[in-house]
Amino acid sequence: MITKSIKIAALGSIILFASCKDEPKTEDKLMTDNILLQEWEGPYQGVPAFDKMNVADVKEAVEKGMEMQLKEVEAIANNKEEPTFENTIVAMESAGKELQRVFAYYGIMSSNMSSPEFREVQAELAPKLSEFQSKISQNEKLFQRIKAVYEASQKNPLEPQEQRVVDLIYKRFEMNGANLNAEKKKRYAEINKALSKLYTKFANNVLHDEENYVTYLTKDQLGGLSESFIKSAAKIAADKGKEGMYAITNTRSSMDPFLTYSTERELRKQVWENYYSRGDNADEYDNNEIIAEILRLRKERVGLMGYDNYAEWRLQDRMAKNPENAMDLMLKVWPAATARVKEEVADMQAVANELGDNITIEPWDYRYYAEKVRQKKYDLDSDEVKQYLQLDKLTDAMFFVAGELFNYKFTPVEEGSVPVFHEDVNVWEVTDKDSGKHIGLWYLDPYAREGKRSGAWATTYRSSTTFEGETNVLASNNSNFVKPAPGEAVLVSWDDATTFFHEFGHALHFFAADVKYPTLQGGVRDYTEFQSQLLERWLSTDKVINQFLVHHETGESIPAELVEKIKKASTFNQGFGTTEYLASALIDMKLHLADPTNIDIDKFERETLDELGMPKELPMRHRTPHFGHVFSGEGYATAYYGYMWADVLTSDASEAFREAEGGFYDSEVADRLVKYLFAPRNAMDPAEAYRKFRGRDAKIEALMRDRGFPVPQR
Ligand SMILES: [Zn+2]
Repeated sequence: MITKSIKIAALGSIILFASCKDEPKTEDKLMTDNILLQEWEGPYQGVPAFDKMNVADVKEAVEKGMEMQLKEVEAIANNKEEPTFENTIVAMESAGKELQRVFAYYGIMSSNMSSPEFREVQAELAPKLSEFQSKISQNEKLFQRIKAVYEASQKNPLEPQEQRVVDLIYKRFEMNGANLNAEKKKRYAEINKALSKLYTKFANNVLHDEENYVTYLTKDQLGGLSESFIKSAAKIAADKGKEGMYAITNTRSSMDPFLTYSTERELRKQVWENYYSRGDNADEYDNNEIIAEILRLRKERVGLMGYDNYAEWRLQDRMAKNPENAMDLMLKVWPAATARVKEEVADMQAVANELGDNITIEPWDYRYYAEKVRQKKYDLDSDEVKQYLQLDKLTDAMFFVAGELFNYKFTPVEEGSVPVFHEDVNVWEVTDKDSGKHIGLWYLDPYAREGKRSGAWATTYRSSTTFEGETNVLASNNSNFVKPAPGEAVLVSWDDATTFFHEFGHALHFFAADVKYPTLQGGVRDYTEFQSQLLERWLSTDKVINQFLVHHETGESIPAELVEKIKKASTFNQGFGTTEYLASALIDMKLHLADPTNIDIDKFERETLDELGMPKELPMRHRTPHFGHVFSGEGYATAYYGYMWADVLTSDASEAFREAEGGFYDSEVADRLVKYLFAPRNAMDPAEAYRKFRGRDAKIEALMRDRGFPVPQR
């Protein structure tokens, strides 16, 4: 739950703003036959020509698209008329359609069908795209017009969606320094340049330590490890020129299973120390001083704009709104999480004693003995569970849920009527069950292949807006299931089934959108994973279990005891999971609230964890010297708390269903779900939207119950 990162493609933010509409253009006619820039043709308001896309066209298309958008932006900025909502904000929302079309293809080529040729083009375009974005965000004349519209709206408010889009656009510019005088702007730019170098250095240092600390095992040191793990470790070693040995690389995917299963305690300790010392080895790749410098520069930069600290600046447009709210939530959960760690350690110590292992639980023992406890307490055979989880049936289950909650119907489109980029991709038309109204198309690209990135994600090729006439939605889900032999069922794990539902939740969030302007489609970092996490809950509802979780050979529903076991296992090891996560999230926030002038990062981390009462048996999930979320860029700086923020909403909202008469299929609660939690996207303040759904603010009690923690008494 916590490890789930944002699964929307990296370019999602750009793709999200797609607001294409196939009207013949009256001006600025396309002077190119580049297919990637063309209007989309065919049925369903026009669809991307995925069957005709070509890497060779990308560079020209992106450059031309940027040029066209910059021209449009210049025209808005230089308009001789007084700035108005129409000639400034609406005009901006309408600009850049060609580039957005290109990005539908670009996203496919980078995530689904990547190739060395494309990566070359991508590397060449990256600095140009960042320059392009700066040209817009630093356009002084444009900002003065936006500011004029914003200030006028403070005296004479616009209707809600218009006001919201003005507020968001103004804020975006203002938060990026648009309001600064020339001198401060100069410093602002210098700081950003310095930061981007530090971010790269930070990331490279972590990478160096991941690549250069490899633990090599000999044949007699493989105790406890699985066949497949050993095989892959042998191959990695051979690739590194150590034929006949076994390599444990310094990455999570290698470290985690090794610490869970290896019987070699000394080696566990070594692997653990390598992993948790990344970026902290007191050599030329050490990140501590870089972090201190990043913190000083961030504070100086937001100081130019009059903010006390980075966290205050960052959180103002998030649902949490300020660092106090985020800290408050984390500190409410923290005591229960660390108390649970004590219980888990006691359970593990008992197992160790029973086994006659003469040890005291240390951090490199946690995963190993936790696994022993899991086998003893929650004897769950994941292969048995898989027999009931067929990909086709799960897809039908999602359609069923979408039908019950959203009143949607999914119908496969006629073969060949909608172009796809690979034969494995299937397309469904989404309509309203009663009125038959067309809503959009759902593309599913289910299987792993060479050139496709790992994991699962959702994206849109076209989003719903109404400001230039109603557009339909083209949304996609992408997974990496192993393609079966013809005629065989694809069986997936419970985790993968959950992720499948999760990503479908993002797609439903796209389909259900009822917003006027593209900017209102945008995600709010601590809110945008909530809707998709919530949808995961329908996987284990009775209606889904009874109809769709059926044995692939016998057709029998999954036994109730097995479902019960799965649910019970979900609270297992929550002390570890919650504490390691919260420790990182708390340090992230506290570092950005501290005075960085003479900060000693190692000392700060140690002393802060001591003050918090961090259990000594486990480390932070990401220690500061390798906390890439926060220091190899700004994506998650003072935002790591957001996972838990969204988890609180998820648990609290699912209790609204659990308490309702019709349970998870209660039509009244479902109506509110669609109306307030899905349809508005960012057209409404998320806190207000949630209150409308729930009748109150979210409370943490439901989260505590979901994690098996005691609920605080008041
Ligand atoms: Zn997600």
